[in-house]
Amino acid sequence: MRVVTKGGGQNEYAGRIPGKLVRQDGYIVLHAADEQATFLFPKELPAGKVSLAISYTGILNDKLRGFYLSKTKTRNYAVTQFEPTDARRAYPSFDEPALKATYDVTLVVDAADTAISNTNLVSDQPGPVPGKHTLRFATTPKMSTYLVAFLVGDFKCTEGKSDGVPIRACSTPDKVELTKFALDSAKYVLHYYNTYFGIKYPMPKLDMVALPDFEAGAMENFGCITYRETDLLVDTKTGNIPEKKRVAVVVAHEMAHQWFGDMVTMQWWDNLWLNEGFATWMQTKPLAEWKPEWNYPQDDAQDLDQTLNLDAQKTTRTIRATANTPDEINEMFDGIAYGKAGAVIGMVEHYIGKEAFRQGVHNYLQAHLYANATAEDFWNAQTENSHLPVDKIMSSFVTHPGVPLLILSEKQASDVPVSQGRFFLSSTATAQVAATDGKAHQDLQWTVPVCLKTSDKPICRVLTPQDSSIPLPMDVGMPMLYANAGGKGYYRTLYTPKQYSAIVAKAETALTPPERIGLLGDRWALVRSGQATVGGYLDLVLALKQDPNAALLDLVHRQLERVDSDIATEEDRAAFAAVVRRQFGPVYAALGSPVKGEPFDRQQLRGTLFEMLGAAQDPAVLAQAQQLATRVFAAENKKDKTLDATLSDSAVLVSASNGDAALYDRLLALSRNSGDPGEKTDALRTLGRFRDPALVQRTLDYLVSGEVRNQDTWIVLVALLRDRATRDQTWDYMRNNWDRVHAQLTVSSGAEVVRATGNFCTVRQRDEVINFFATHKIGASERTLAKAVDSINDCIQLRSSQEADLHAWLKAQAK
Ligand SMILES: [Zn+2]
Repeated sequence: MRVVTKGGGQNEYAGRIPGKLVRQDGYIVLHAADEQATFLFPKELPAGKVSLAISYTGILNDKLRGFYLSKTKTRNYAVTQFEPTDARRAYPSFDEPALKATYDVTLVVDAADTAISNTNLVSDQPGPVPGKHTLRFATTPKMSTYLVAFLVGDFKCTEGKSDGVPIRACSTPDKVELTKFALDSAKYVLHYYNTYFGIKYPMPKLDMVALPDFEAGAMENFGCITYRETDLLVDTKTGNIPEKKRVAVVVAHEMAHQWFGDMVTMQWWDNLWLNEGFATWMQTKPLAEWKPEWNYPQDDAQDLDQTLNLDAQKTTRTIRATANTPDEINEMFDGIAYGKAGAVIGMVEHYIGKEAFRQGVHNYLQAHLYANATAEDFWNAQTENSHLPVDKIMSSFVTHPGVPLLILSEKQASDVPVSQGRFFLSSTATAQVAATDGKAHQDLQWTVPVCLKTSDKPICRVLTPQDSSIPLPMDVGMPMLYANAGGKGYYRTLYTPKQYSAIVAKAETALTPPERIGLLGDRWALVRSGQATVGGYLDLVLALKQDPNAALLDLVHRQLERVDSDIATEEDRAAFAAVVRRQFGPVYAALGSPVKGEPFDRQQLRGTLFEMLGAAQDPAVLAQAQQLATRVFAAENKKDKTLDATLSDSAVLVSASNGDAALYDRLLALSRNSGDPGEKTDALRTLGRFRDPALVQRTLDYLVSGEVRNQDTWIVLVALLRDRATRDQTWDYMRNNWDRVHAQLTVSSGAEVVRATGNFCTVRQRDEVINFFATHKIGASERTLAKAVDSINDCIQLRSSQEADLHAWLKAQAK
């Protein structure tokens, strides 16, 4: 029978439900606001098992959620995205993660079309009507509703095998050539995970499918992972390494979920971190082994630094947090569930040792196969196995919000005095903590493993809220004491001036690249919190300027952008740029021109320095950028891929910032016509780098024209809101054209745009943001808005507390 949707109020659905043995027809009452339905039957149902059959219809929506429509120039696709609460948009279900069931999926589709679902196709029959065929898939294992998938269209695949499991990487037919790299990654990763977990990949096959319209990056549907095209497709021959790294990371992340999330699922969304934290922690592990030359540990260190900053806001949340409504659940997919949980897991692994941790992971998974688990289940398994206080450490990080700050004093005879408090990026919050002598936050102290680096091998100790020092062996050599050996600790550190000088003096010889990234991140964060000066931080930058590590210089580049945009006055900006040119010009020159077959890190380093000098208006770099960008786009609608890819990309970015209309037209054409999704998105993103107001206007009009996919609009808006040269114009445009802008945003991209307004740095714009979003609501972004306002306030404080110091430092440099 048929359930009809009429819309509005109760009794939206009315229908008969056929029973089985003793058949009863029931009626349905829909509670639209709760996204729930009640089934009513004339007679009381008998005790024991009953079968419920429900007929229903739906529409293929354009919201990128539920069973939805994805379009290309040539045809439509019907595809699914259910996490977290959208399976109910496709079919009636007990749509909660703990209510697992098996699924038998049968699809009737056009004769020329195919379909992909979680399990193997077991039969393919013509009919039931002419022009159709019926595809039946094998019964799934017990799984949560949000992991079901069915995709209909004319997908083409590349096929391979790993540990006997068939793997396919699929796309629309025109892009199947771009699936090979993802397939190679998946083959490596599957074998790695089988070995690591000691539990075999559970499904009979693995499909990975790139969809033309996709809201998130990818989705770990059991045995049928779906992707945004740019996160699965890359040209094996001409794709650059950062693109390949991204594809490999996303593939490894989603595959980790097949164990963490799909086989063993969190009991409820409040423990989402059990899914996302684990996949985040796991995603670079196989890849660091597969491609050691791609320096994944440095990426992890950069991610940790970003997460610590995110979590040092007053409005941060705890890892485990209440989430009951769909909006609250959607908002859980943030930097805390991914970045913080992943970092805390990494810290615990570093403390108890890789093999002990792996065994604990195995025990935890084995105990909850095809079922659900809680945070306690995980840390109890680790505690039992390692006999170390993992439960105390993890529970303190999972249930307390924010970041610990360790304050070290000079070493005594046999220990280092340490006190801990909560670290804030805001100088007022820091001052408040200091004024109460830390008492306001005494309840907020952590049980934290601290690994000290001295001249000997690292010493790891657990610091509890009761401890006021870390004991050291009497005979330890102490030319230097760095309090985050391995760079995995989830905390910031404040040293005595003497300790700090000793570290800086030895940074290039005694610290590893991830440790140096941590040192630099700590110093910049301390500036933002009012506990260090920007001048002192810039001295550290100059001490590290010859660092051969691209990731470190990339962090410097991003931090210097903040100094320029958040602290420097208009007059100081020129002097600041002159220092950058004088200090980093020779470093760039020493690298020389690109050479074929150079290590990846050296290419990246050259590109980063080029962009840094371009931003500082170095005349030679600007000229070179112009010349290179012209050569890259000598042919219409096509990039010249014979040139050095990294330097070419940097040249295009530098030229774009300096407003070149001819280049703009080339990129606009590429963003419209390229057949390579990565190239297309890069071109679109680069449109957000042009600063000429006339070109910014063209970009904004283009974004709301309907020509840019909903999944991509926000990427450019966020870039425009980030740049101090374009943010005012973008903000005005957004407010004046809100209906058109809003129509281009999805649930998660709306939140990204709200987040990007956190780049503002004036009282006026802060108040505008508060007022505007009070009347122009964006779903699932309440906490995001509070955080954006927090960021603006922090920036205002940063400027007022550091402006004079920067000015004095620049004056001293000029001498
Ligand atoms: Zn994930």
